Amino acid sequence: MDCIFCKIADGTIPSRKVYEDERVVAFHDIQPQAPVHLLVIPKKHIASLDDASSEDAELLGHAMLAAQKVAREAGVASSGYRVITNIGPDSGQIVFHLHLHVLGGEKLAHLNP
Ligand code: 5GP
Repeated sequence: MDCIFCKIADGTIPSRKVYEDERVVAFHDIQPQAPVHLLVIPKKHIASLDDASSEDAELLGHAMLAAQKVAREAGVASSGYRVITNIGPDSGQIVFHLHLHVLGGEKLAHLNP
């Protein structure tokens, strides 16, 4: 499958990894939008959150806790950070392999619903 995040997960494409275990990988975003901008991806190819199913529930929880871990290790937990995932064209998703953005290190613009 021609997916850049699958290739980052298997090491074919290099990345600045900050965490890896048997189910997820976390690495620095190549075009950071904040002083801390990490991406957490499942090694399993899931195109977006909308493509996840109940069998992925534990994996999704594991990815969220990996986001917590890398945020703590990046030193942004006490000041606060944001975890988001884009889903589909209106969100601006450009890489169709589910990923959590972990953003922090500065006061982030407030998201108004
Ligand atoms: P999306 O808009 O799909 O939620 O965001 C995809 C993110 O992946 C973007 O922030 C983009 O900068 C990042 N990205 C795209 N290609 C690469 C890459 O090859 N390496 C890394 N480290 N990040 C990438």
